[in-house]
Amino acid sequence: MRGQSEAFPLDEASIRLALEAPPIEDAARIRELLAKARAMKGLDDLDLPPLMAIQDPDLLQELFATARWVKDQIYGNRIVMFAPLYVSNLCGNECLYCAFRASNRELPRRVLDQAEIAAEVGHLLAQGHKRLVLVAGEAYPKEGLDYILSAIRTVYDTRHGADNIRRVNVNIAPLTVEDFRRLKKAEIGTYQLFQETYHRETYGRMHVRGLKADYDWRLGCMDRAMLAGIDDVGIGALFGLYDWRFELLALMQHARHLEARFGCGPHTISVPRIEPAEGSTTSEAPPHAVTDEAFRKLIAILRLAVPYTGLILSTRERPEVRREALRLGISQISAGSRTNPGGYEDDSLEGGAQFSLGDHRELDEVVRDLAQTGFIPSFCTSCYRMGRTGADFMDLAKPGDIKAHCHPNALATLQEYMDDHASPATLSAAKQLLVESLSDLEGHARALAEGMVARVKNGERDVFC
Ligand code: SAM
Ligand code: SF4
Repeated sequence: MRGQSEAFPLDEASIRLALEAPPIEDAARIRELLAKARAMKGLDDLDLPPLMAIQDPDLLQELFATARWVKDQIYGNRIVMFAPLYVSNLCGNECLYCAFRASNRELPRRVLDQAEIAAEVGHLLAQGHKRLVLVAGEAYPKEGLDYILSAIRTVYDTRHGADNIRRVNVNIAPLTVEDFRRLKKAEIGTYQLFQETYHRETYGRMHVRGLKADYDWRLGCMDRAMLAGIDDVGIGALFGLYDWRFELLALMQHARHLEARFGCGPHTISVPRIEPAEGSTTSEAPPHAVTDEAFRKLIAILRLAVPYTGLILSTRERPEVRREALRLGISQISAGSRTNPGGYEDDSLEGGAQFSLGDHRELDEVVRDLAQTGFIPSFCTSCYRMGRTGADFMDLAKPGDIKAHCHPNALATLQEYMDDHASPATLSAAKQLLVESLSDLEGHARALAEGMVARVKNGERDVFC
């Protein structure tokens, strides 16, 4: 039932006030904030404006160096890998930046049936993916939410040899509490939804028709999801619609609200930037386009502000932007993505995509690039399956204990990828990284990781702790 108002009370006025008078660049104050960030307890909202205002190149480098340090302390060199699975591009909304919007008559529409979904999953499994985010426009054919629930079942049930998808995250339109309960029962990982812009007036101009035109319905979505018992939620903003500094402060408020109300903030924050979308002039010239430099800054600031929240970057971004973003704070990336339903099965299907990609490389190439640049691609889905979600995850993450699980799991899943999917060039880069990573470990951690990797080498699959 629509109308359940659970919106969190975003305080736009306080954000406006914080941004009204840009702080004078005060090196001492900025260094004080960077020192505070090194304690890895996060930052307060009012700490952000001075960091957002940094212009001096040396101070900017200090900000980046601090973000790299925090990232390294908490996440080491692991990067979690995933792929999107677009099941339908049918949509009743009119988001001016999106190719799927209802009035875009040029776009070939497609709703995958369950057999087609299984075929898509087969292709993703063949590449080596273990974790998906299922994505759809907001207009489900006759079955409504049942269509999505069946799609999730199909994903989990699909096999490619011995491989299967071990975690399905979902990025679909907001639901009622009751429907979120049904989604939870389908055993989803994270429920993700981006507010697009937290700026109400801009939101109104960008979402002109359809259910999504209701700003408050979307703003309250994560409250409803968490009320329904979904404890891993992912928030985000579509950067380029409004001032990125406003969005950052609003994301912080959103995160704090969820933490205060449910005892656990968002599991992830996504930082999509608008990419050109077929037939959308807004997407070609975003009203508040974020430069690469501002983008790096916003990622670094988020890393310091919410150190334990995963940061997600998609293939919207070009490889060179992604490489730098990984150092600054991104902890999860997609790879080998298609944004048109059916795009994995039929590569020649170009029409029907949501937006154009910045990174067209296949998973194997991305894995190789990561390995060559010292990052461990991780296909781990352990926490979700061990019940380490929501507040339980954060309780482990905050004192730094989660590393003891993440590192061996990352290495064991990398070994699995190497044995089952890697090309010779990727295998050789990954082998070297794995040997170095194991030799960097000591004592119990080393014995655990070596033992898990050896089990995979001996043919065992899905080894995790
Ligand atoms: N239809 C649902 C919705 O809008 O929330 C869920 C899926 S929608 C396909 C996923 C996300 O794609 C949107 O939340 C939006 O942020 C993003 N998106 C839409 N158009 C985009 C564009 N031109 N460039 C980059 N991201 C875009
Ligand atoms: Fe539809 Fe989502 Fe695209 Fe908006 S962003 S037009 S709701 S698919």
